[in-house]
Amino acid sequence: MTLNRRLVVSMEDIKSVVLECLHCGVRMTFSPDAITAPCNCPNPTCNKFWAASHYPNAVGFGMRNTPAQIRLLEAIQAVRARDKEQKIERPNDPIGFRILMEFEEPSV
Ligand SMILES: [Zn+2]
Repeated sequence: MTLNRRLVVSMEDIKSVVLECLHCGVRMTFSPDAITAPCNCPNPTCNKFWAASHYPNAVGFGMRNTPAQIRLLEAIQAVRARDKEQKIERPNDPIGFRILMEFEEPSV
């Protein structure tokens, strides 16, 4: 018999969000509650374009034209804030579930 172990995590379990440059591989780590993609890579020898300056305010700008990566960063923050609010009983809440993600347990 094979035993497959999986990890199930909620948005609350996210400890940090890491953005990695596609060009040089430098990484920036953010609190999952305060993610702002910089316009350019923070590595001064790379400095390649990362995201347009209006994307940090993507929700107000118009999500349809916003790249999925930026929408995901916004969603992580919004869902985490909502999950914190949902700890208070809300009988008329339009969302009656929370999102969990399942991962293969890393091999040692
Ligand atoms: Zn870079």
